[in-house]
Amino acid sequence: MKKHNFNAGPAILPDSVLEKAAASVIDLNGSGLSILEVSHRGADFTAIIERAEALTRQILDLPDDYAVLFLSGGASSQFFMTAMNLLDESGKAYYVDTGSWSSKAIKEARLFGQVEVLASSKDRNYSYIPKGYEVPSDGTYLHLTSNNTIFGTQFHEWPESPIPVVCDMSSDIFSRPIDLSRFDLIYAGAQKNLGPAGTTLVIVRKELLGRVNRQLPSMLDYRNHIDQNSCYNTPPVFPIYVCMLTLEWILEQGGLSALEERNRQKAELLYRQIDVNPLFRGVAETADRSWMNVTFVATDPEREKTFLKTCQEAGCVGVKGHRSVGGFRASIYNAMPLESVRVLAEVMEAFAHQHA
Ligand SMILES: *Cc1c(COP(=O)(O)O)cnc(C)c1O
Repeated sequence: MKKHNFNAGPAILPDSVLEKAAASVIDLNGSGLSILEVSHRGADFTAIIERAEALTRQILDLPDDYAVLFLSGGASSQFFMTAMNLLDESGKAYYVDTGSWSSKAIKEARLFGQVEVLASSKDRNYSYIPKGYEVPSDGTYLHLTSNNTIFGTQFHEWPESPIPVVCDMSSDIFSRPIDLSRFDLIYAGAQKNLGPAGTTLVIVRKELLGRVNRQLPSMLDYRNHIDQNSCYNTPPVFPIYVCMLTLEWILEQGGLSALEERNRQKAELLYRQIDVNPLFRGVAETADRSWMNVTFVATDPEREKTFLKTCQEAGCVGVKGHRSVGGFRASIYNAMPLESVRVLAEVMEAFAHQHA
């Protein structure tokens, strides 16, 4: 029986996407070849990557001055690639530190220029999104992490920024409409909301590039990937194909507004259960709660193991929290059906009755 998959990443994908992907591993569109054995320069794959880009543009209503790239190296490579491409040694970038991923981005960017941490929620184990700071106008860019996968917080309002904004959207890309006028470079590892591990979506305003003085290795220069439509070298063919299928699925669902509404319902259902259930407590500050990664703990830590076992028995997997937060984390990305969230909420409710 298929499990209710609350894994944080790699994570749940829509059933229809998995079925199409599986069929194409055997025979891609009746070509007599597997998606795994076609040339990345052949007509079949060219059509796939062009469609993936076109769908991204359509879903986001992306203006032409942004390039769309499917790269490899994970979101973690974007921590340094963004800085290498945008930040001169004499320049300064501002970072908002909202969790482990932000901290890693800060560490990497420091190799290439000055980095100032403008605001941080580290003082309370990243349980909130810092607010009330001014973004200075002397920076090259501001870096944000829209959703903090590990701690379960999410930006629901954006800071006003007089400088370009770079945003790691790995764990909430395509979960809600994006106001593109606020962002100049967006990156997202595919394995949370978009596809399997192995490719990273990068959306970048082209005029931002070519301003740094340093020499860049070819593979780390966004402009080479733009010139070659993400085929400067052999791209991750299969992950890009599955992203294309997921993008088609997003359109079928009614696009980002429809997904946002559904994600809101799922999150509200689960947080409501956490708030009324005496055996559990939410981790993130209410206003900053993530709609993608719901973090909570047991009011009595002694019950943690028992609850995880109960989840397992109900077919709910991936509910154990990250070690830096403890407790539980239910990742309820786009592909997670409302029905599965309901199952988890019912498991929690029944657990409370049983242990009251
Ligand atoms: C998972 C994640 C990353 C790291 O992604 P990799 O593809 O494993 O490098 C970075 N940022 C955020 C917000 C994430 O959720």
